[in-house]
Amino acid sequence: MTQVIYTRQGDIAVATVNNPPVNALSEDVRHGLMRAIEASRSDAGVRALVIIGGGGTFVAGADINDFGKPYAEPTLYTIIDALMANPKPVIAAIHGTAFGGGLELALACHWRIATADAQVGQPEVKLGLMPGGGGTQWWTRLAGPEVALDVATSGKPVSAPQAHAWGVIDRVTDGKLLDSALAFAQDILTGAVPARDLTSSMERIRNVDPALFDEFRRRNERKWKGQLAPWKIVDCIEAACRLSFAEGFALEKKAFSECEHSYQSRSLIHLFFAERAAAKLPDISAAAAATVASAAVIGAGTMGAGIAMSFANAGIPVILLDASEEALARGLKTIADNYASSVKRGSMPQARAAAARARIKGASDYAALADADIIVEAVFEDMAIKQEVFRRLGEVAKPEVVLATNTSTLDVDAIADASSRPDKVLGLHFFSPANVMRLLEVVRGARTSAATLATSMAVARALRKTAVVSGNAYGFIGNRILAAYGREADFLLEEGATPWQIDRVLTGFGFPMGLFAMRDMAGLDVIWRIRQQESEIRPGHLRYSPIADRICEMGRFGQKSGRGYYLYDGRTPIPDPEIEALIIGVSTELGIARHEIADEEILQRLLCAMVNEGARILEEGVALRAGDIDVVYVNGYGFPATRGGPMWWASETGLASIHDAVVAYHRTHGDYWLPSSLLARAAQCGGDWDAALRAG
Ligand code: NAD
Repeated sequence: MTQVIYTRQGDIAVATVNNPPVNALSEDVRHGLMRAIEASRSDAGVRALVIIGGGGTFVAGADINDFGKPYAEPTLYTIIDALMANPKPVIAAIHGTAFGGGLELALACHWRIATADAQVGQPEVKLGLMPGGGGTQWWTRLAGPEVALDVATSGKPVSAPQAHAWGVIDRVTDGKLLDSALAFAQDILTGAVPARDLTSSMERIRNVDPALFDEFRRRNERKWKGQLAPWKIVDCIEAACRLSFAEGFALEKKAFSECEHSYQSRSLIHLFFAERAAAKLPDISAAAAATVASAAVIGAGTMGAGIAMSFANAGIPVILLDASEEALARGLKTIADNYASSVKRGSMPQARAAAARARIKGASDYAALADADIIVEAVFEDMAIKQEVFRRLGEVAKPEVVLATNTSTLDVDAIADASSRPDKVLGLHFFSPANVMRLLEVVRGARTSAATLATSMAVARALRKTAVVSGNAYGFIGNRILAAYGREADFLLEEGATPWQIDRVLTGFGFPMGLFAMRDMAGLDVIWRIRQQESEIRPGHLRYSPIADRICEMGRFGQKSGRGYYLYDGRTPIPDPEIEALIIGVSTELGIARHEIADEEILQRLLCAMVNEGARILEEGVALRAGDIDVVYVNGYGFPATRGGPMWWASETGLASIHDAVVAYHRTHGDYWLPSSLLARAAQCGGDWDAALRAG
């Protein structure tokens, strides 16, 4: 069946796009649109054409699967040419969403009408792309360069009324869309709406101050470091103000093609699909999920308060329980303060903040938890305390509940066993601040049931978190890789590097913050205490760097104590000669001859350590897919999204060379570098981790 249905309503032709679920611009849709444009043009009885979406939306966007591949004719460009050459007015009638290619189709029409709840936007930049199909040129001529710059470089959606106010949508309707579009067409035909030719219209692009663009570039320089698309967008919008429409369009075409074939864009599209894949579990049906209408959180500390806010923000009422009245009051105050500052910053409207705040109720009695559909524990990181909490939860919670622990380092199965219903238990490892960070590691215990897991994945979606399932192994996915490359960074310090050199290399690669600055921000004392507890079980034959312990012994716990690896002036880290002296002292003590270490070696050792550990995690089944590791690293640990995550980066760099480097480090640097056998196999599979995993 054709995906575009062509009908006539009197002297107006109507092309209805029917390609569920989102009317993406498939090859068949493109053919159908061309046929409709031609038919309306050649039929003397037709005076105008309306293009409208069937189902829930206009053409929501291009088909992401097509990016980077050769386009089959008719391309969007061919359709745009046909629309522009059409002497009869064409009206786009928009409901739902018109993003990316869908919006460009609408912009190439002569007129646009939309329902009041419709949204338009240019989200391409989020995939390392830019608006093609004239998107930068039309928008600039319709709304002016300031608005065009903001919309295209942010990728944020714009409501139809806002787009109308800017001149991008010509009419907004509360009535039935098709009827309103037909009436609009009649107004155009009768001349009630004055004719216009946008390609020659100069109104919004005349007398634009050229400094506007350089100023915009300067303002965003840091944010766009290492990216291609936003810079290209500014170039094209600037060109729209200087060149003819045809010249600007040609420049945009070239810039789009450069972005489309860039490593960055391929990386971001990889992440787009990896996030969607991570949400699906091969052996669990989403249908097994139970409805979650109420939640409870135990422990009103740093994590508990943030987790409670996550539920409240998603519209789920939540009870926050703490063993200490004082801690509970403190937690509730933190929550109130957080909402107040969101309102003050303008990131949340007052009414929404008040409604969310009102969904959080404090409690001190476990009886209050009896009705909760999900209970998340976030008490101290202590097995005995957690087991006691789960023993009590086993007594009071309703039978079909989900019981989650937010532990970072403890054995989820040992916690589950204390509950007397281990099938209901799993780990939900939120990241700090829990109401802000998108990543959620969902830790599947040995006895976690399918229903518990399916419900938890649905809860993650409701909380708008990016969920990745991890096996119940120490450090799960993220912290285990962090430990591996953090250890390598410590060894690099002993061999001759400084914290600031290593951090500079990492931020140069695209991490927003270096490893040591990040440690200082998180606080050094908690992990120090864990290291002390683990000192007896640490294998004696493996190299261990004492630097982090020595720094804590000096009472330097990071930002919170004003000094850690760095000295702090507010939040600004300042290199500290005292730390350099400490590191040199440790090198001498260990008999290590310090030498200058090249930035390239630092980067290679850190990234290879990440990748080799990632390969082990895959091999052991802790992570299900290489893409899952990438999603964790980009969303929780600052790995630059434009580089796709460590496993993707490795495949793109060439696994054979990474394998050779790991083998060489194993020879020179010892057992931590034992190459994962999956790394060797994946190198032979042309860099395809998952194929190597399946080949087993
Ligand atoms: P926190 O010390 O800030 O808060 C713990 C809270 O639990 C305190 O308010 C305490 O009064 C309360 N509590 C202690 N025992 C209790 C009990 N028996 N019943 C009820 N309440 C009790 O700790 P946090 O940083 O929020 O960490 C909580 C958990 O989250 C830990 O398991 C930690 O490993 C994990 N976690 C922390 C982070 C982080 O960055 N802080 C990140 C991920 C996971």
